[in-house]
Amino acid sequence: MGNFSNLPEVEICESCGETDVSVELVDSRFEYNHHGALVTLVARVPVYTCGACEFQYMAADAEDARHNAVCDYLELLPPKVVRQIRVTMGMTIRELSAVTGIGSASLSRWENGSGIQNRAYDNLLRLVRDPANLQFLSSSRSLEVPSHEQAPNFRSLKVTASVMDRANAFSL
Ligand SMILES: [Zn+2]
Repeated sequence: MGNFSNLPEVEICESCGETDVSVELVDSRFEYNHHGALVTLVARVPVYTCGACEFQYMAADAEDARHNAVCDYLELLPPKVVRQIRVTMGMTIRELSAVTGIGSASLSRWENGSGIQNRAYDNLLRLVRDPANLQFLSSSRSLEVPSHEQAPNFRSLKVTASVMDRANAFSL
């Protein structure tokens, strides 16, 4: 077993099924096709080695590491942060979708790393990180946020004087 506490406690060899598997982080270069131009990126990926059969392999976490490297290169929020923004506001995907107009399927893809938001959506996500902007968006329209027990932070947002000032500033 490796020394990385954030990795699964028992890794099972994909070849022989033994659990005598060690892991090390290796810098892995890969090509990324950015609008037709190939760029070489580097991701630090976990490589597993079986002590029983010496089989070496990478797992799904390698794909996550590459995905994060691409986000980093494009200067876009990685999946973990996209999710963090929503969870911090205590919103469900459906609720964030209702406020921002971003499709909930897209939000899901960006959170699980099966897709990357474009620059405009990335900017929108960064903006709604600020509760004042979120409040501004939701009060700009007769928006019905689905009543949901898991959205205490969002529903308890108060329209304070400073929020209104900012809202007014935005409408100038
Ligand atoms: Zn093995």
